[in-house]
Amino acid sequence: MTLEIAASSKRVYITRLPFGGDLLEEITRFCMEKNVTLGKVQGIGAVQNARLGFYHQSKREYQFFDLQQNLEITSLLGNISLKDGEPIVHAHVNLSDEIGKTYGGHLAPGTKLFACEVIIEAFESDEGKLLNRGYDQETGLPLWT
Ligand code: ZN
Repeated sequence: MTLEIAASSKRVYITRLPFGGDLLEEITRFCMEKNVTLGKVQGIGAVQNARLGFYHQSKREYQFFDLQQNLEITSLLGNISLKDGEPIVHAHVNLSDEIGKTYGGHLAPGTKLFACEVIIEAFESDEGKLLNRGYDQETGLPLWT
């Protein structure tokens, strides 16, 4: 089954996330406050430490790892949809250290902000269609249904 939603840009938010906050939780909180249920997010900045995930396709589970160091957010990209009726942010990040070595992965709670400039674009779907996540049998992931 293919999934396709046509949408138009509704609103663009430009914001700075608070020092010491949790990167993923702050983006999610912002989306909840503004009722962004369909959209995209991008950001750059720095974190005090990070917690990222790698999905083991054979085991069907995430393995999380911690980076206990200050890092640049060289790229944060994600999308916003709905899961159990609430906005959910799915984001991946690339982070770099003092010699430019990069780490990347699925952004998890536990990534502590230093500073982050974020742009969130909210979309309005044709016919008011909602984009929901649900359990996907093939991958074991909560994918768009
Ligand atoms: Zn992911």
